[in-house]
Amino acid sequence: MVVVMKPQASEDQKEHVRETIRAFGCKPRDIQGDEITIICLIGNTLSLEPEQFEILDGVDRVQRIQRPYKLVSREVQPHKTRFQVGNVTIGGDGITIIAGPCSVESYDQFVEAARHARAAGAHIIRGGAFKPRTSPYSFQGLGEEGLKIMARVSEETGLPTISEVMEPEMEPMVSEYVDMLQVGARNMQNYPLLNAVGQSSRPVMLKRGMSATIEEMLLAAEYILAGGNHNVVLCERGIRTFETWTRNTLDISAVPVLQKYTHLPVFIDPSHGTGNADFVGPASRAAVAVGADGLMIEMHPRPERALSDGDQSLTPEAFASLIPELQSVATAVNRTID
Ligand code: PEP
Ligand code: MN
Repeated sequence: MVVVMKPQASEDQKEHVRETIRAFGCKPRDIQGDEITIICLIGNTLSLEPEQFEILDGVDRVQRIQRPYKLVSREVQPHKTRFQVGNVTIGGDGITIIAGPCSVESYDQFVEAARHARAAGAHIIRGGAFKPRTSPYSFQGLGEEGLKIMARVSEETGLPTISEVMEPEMEPMVSEYVDMLQVGARNMQNYPLLNAVGQSSRPVMLKRGMSATIEEMLLAAEYILAGGNHNVVLCERGIRTFETWTRNTLDISAVPVLQKYTHLPVFIDPSHGTGNADFVGPASRAAVAVGADGLMIEMHPRPERALSDGDQSLTPEAFASLIPELQSVATAVNRTID
């Protein structure tokens, strides 16, 4: 259930609505639009009646939300979520490009990747410091040292950063070094982690679990918003199917489907989505054409020597030549890549 306040509702009237919600054993959560405030009821609302709130001063109307997710729903918030990561706007008309290596391997490797990313026009740099690897014998990342490298390179290049957080206890530490947190596919339904990033002041990219339905993804995002963090991006990164010639099957249709039901920006990761550098360009063009709000692309100064995901990493040259192609497609669908 959501309580839509009148545009002229006073702060006292809003606070009275919140107090009433608490008195009924639920938690209030505000969604602040340009003109109106919507106050959502978090908790069991089955025994409540809209009239109990409709009579309160300053209330315009009360709506029951039929779907299991609420805060992420377009029913609750019709306009697309827009927020800043450093000086980069996510969720606007512009398409956001995130690029960088799968793993931070050294200062030299990361700064080289970041300089190429910036020169080609990327807005945010990525790199894994804590890596969720399928095998315990694979490179597990540089840990905190990797995050320190990211913070240093961010300062030197002026580009904001994103990196994965794998455990709830690590959220404060990762948030100290990077501008945006990534919840990886393997952790999409790690509820303690979703609660932890929900309490973070950093924006979050939530990647789709490899066997997760769209509804499960929306409900995972709901945890983060219910925790108080509304700055969330959803990222389609391929799902597991019977096909083996690609690493995953990139679900391009997830973009318009998600955009119909949620106001959260939707990104595509064509690198994990295909698993092969040869297919990253075509999948990226498709992502822009289908309306994605951003892309996250793995790029490594020397993919053949990468400690993780070299097969799917673009060379700096391939990445640089892809950007103008994406700009042409963006123009065709009335978007921009600045
Ligand atoms: C990554 O972005 O490097 C990564 C591990 O992605 P995913 O969680 O989608 O597998
Ligand atoms: Mn990777």
